[in-house]
Amino acid sequence: MKLNIQLFAVPFHRVSKTRKRLRRSHNALEVPGTTKCPNCGEPLKPHRVCKKCGFYKGKEVIETKDAE
Ligand SMILES: [Zn+2]
Repeated sequence: MKLNIQLFAVPFHRVSKTRKRLRRSHNALEVPGTTKCPNCGEPLKPHRVCKKCGFYKGKEVIETKDAE
């Protein structure tokens, strides 16, 4: 009789909840080619004025609706 057994990698130790979560902490998806507005934290394309607060390079460049 011919034995046809395939061997797979078997984990030697159980991965704890903490280890699993630590590993997956780097797995979150993010939108490519964007930065965060340093003024309001809104996702923003680099080298462009923020549409939400109208700031660029730390100064208010354009008027926005909710500006006071
Ligand atoms: Zn902003």
